[in-house]
Amino acid sequence: MREPFRNEPFTDFTISDSIADFGAALRSVESQLGLEYRLKIGSDRIETTNKRKSINPSEFKQVVGIVSQGDTEHAHKAILAAAAAFEEWKRVPPAARARVLYKAAAILRRRKHEFSAWLVFEAGKNWAEADGDTAEAIDFLEFYGREMERLAERQPLVPLAGEDNELTYVPLGVGVVIPPWNFPLAIMAGMTMASVVAGNTVVLKPASPTAVIAAKFIELLEEAGLPDGVVNYLPGAGGDIGDFLVEHPLTRFICFTGSREVGLRINERAAAARQDQKWIKRVIAEMGGKDTIIVAEDADLDLAADAITASAFGYSGQKCSACSRAVIEESVYEDVLEKVVRRTAALKIGHASEQATAIGPVIDERAYINILKYIEVGRSEGTLVLGGNKRGGTGYFIEPTIIRDVAPYARIAQEEIFGPVLAFIKAANFDAALDIANNTEYGLTGAVISRDRAKLEKARDEFHVGNLYFNRKCTGALVGVHPFGGFNMSGTDSKAGGRDYLLLLTQAKVVSERF
Ligand code: NAP
Repeated sequence: MREPFRNEPFTDFTISDSIADFGAALRSVESQLGLEYRLKIGSDRIETTNKRKSINPSEFKQVVGIVSQGDTEHAHKAILAAAAAFEEWKRVPPAARARVLYKAAAILRRRKHEFSAWLVFEAGKNWAEADGDTAEAIDFLEFYGREMERLAERQPLVPLAGEDNELTYVPLGVGVVIPPWNFPLAIMAGMTMASVVAGNTVVLKPASPTAVIAAKFIELLEEAGLPDGVVNYLPGAGGDIGDFLVEHPLTRFICFTGSREVGLRINERAAAARQDQKWIKRVIAEMGGKDTIIVAEDADLDLAADAITASAFGYSGQKCSACSRAVIEESVYEDVLEKVVRRTAALKIGHASEQATAIGPVIDERAYINILKYIEVGRSEGTLVLGGNKRGGTGYFIEPTIIRDVAPYARIAQEEIFGPVLAFIKAANFDAALDIANNTEYGLTGAVISRDRAKLEKARDEFHVGNLYFNRKCTGALVGVHPFGGFNMSGTDSKAGGRDYLLLLTQAKVVSERF
């Protein structure tokens, strides 16, 4: 019997050995910056003339790696390689496929700080955020491995006299995996290896800002013994090769996490049947959020302020689950605001590689410009009470920003900013707060801070989000504990890290035999 799934513990960075080990990993990775990375299609490593520099958002003169970029011809080859590998891989027994994931998890656990260090340099994550991303990747490998073993067991069916009936979950075929940059290890590895353990083969198109982390994961999969062609690594701009991959007639499914805009585009393009296409493509799309924490007047206000601060500014607000709207009952509005401002003002901004950093950079120039524009919009839609400025230096640093007295339908209360910008919204009472919480087109996460059982029960029924939290932050979902994914424009209602997830990547076949 395999041990039951348990979440990978986070590293305790108050322990001096952990600090020393992490520091050593940072130095080791820093000495490897600037190397070149190639495509991997089948067993071929391909260097292209078109290359993209991946840069450190804390220090944008520092090149993390130089990554060959695939074009549509490479995309075609990658899909053919995946289709060829599928013929073998689908025959590998589920338990043997799962063992590749367990082996990959073991290697990743051994090299945990090294992978986290890559996240520090390429994604601008501080130590704890990087460690959390790596732990989540390990969790996905361990969890989906066990899930596949569970699905491979004999499934319960109603007995019928004289007939033997069996339901099995068979793989779909070739998938295109398109992850975002904000959990460049966990989500990338999770979507890729869920597809693979279910018996599919994939083309992995990493997010462009974080293609090196994906390349390191590809090396790890080789070490774990994954056969060539099962995961094909195809870095390249989504705008250049995305449509081609999605529209290819051999593409059977698309596993995407990213923005609403790109998710809808993929959904639309995947829906049209192309010549020689034999199936309806499946799209699993996890998209954006505009997530709210409600504070009721009876709440523990310190707990509320801790929850809001952590949810709004962890990883500079660049989480789909980040709290970007604090909706507060009128009578405690000023108190909660004051407490959140005080806590936020104490957060240290700095290079992600420095241990004391709470707020690192935002991911790239595009995000930097976009977030600063939203701050300008916010100044006209409310009163800026903290932050609002970029920080000089050689990284994309933006101060954590709080804007008060924002109207529920203001742009900064409706549009996903994906940066360290928090809108405070006053609600006349708890029911009004719930109405505001539900007034966006998204439905990803939310939280309610209250001691009142009746309010919590009402929110349980009426707060329409995929992941709702009471008396805690709205970020930090754990694999298996909090299966994750949202409603409405936040996606296709899937639950990453949940028992239903692998069903999205398989099809159920029933064989009935009369004896
Ligand atoms: P994005 O701009 O939508 O990019 C996501 C991925 O799509 C990237 O790999 C990107 O490639 C690719 N892409 C771009 N254009 C494409 C096209 N036409 N066809 C196919 N693929 C294309 O999102 P992001 O900025 O990386 O990530 C942030 C977004 O992800 C936020 O909206 C956030 O809320 C969401 N998110 C959601 C969840 C969830 O679980 N619901 C989790 C994490 C993040 P390039 O990098 O080459 O452009």
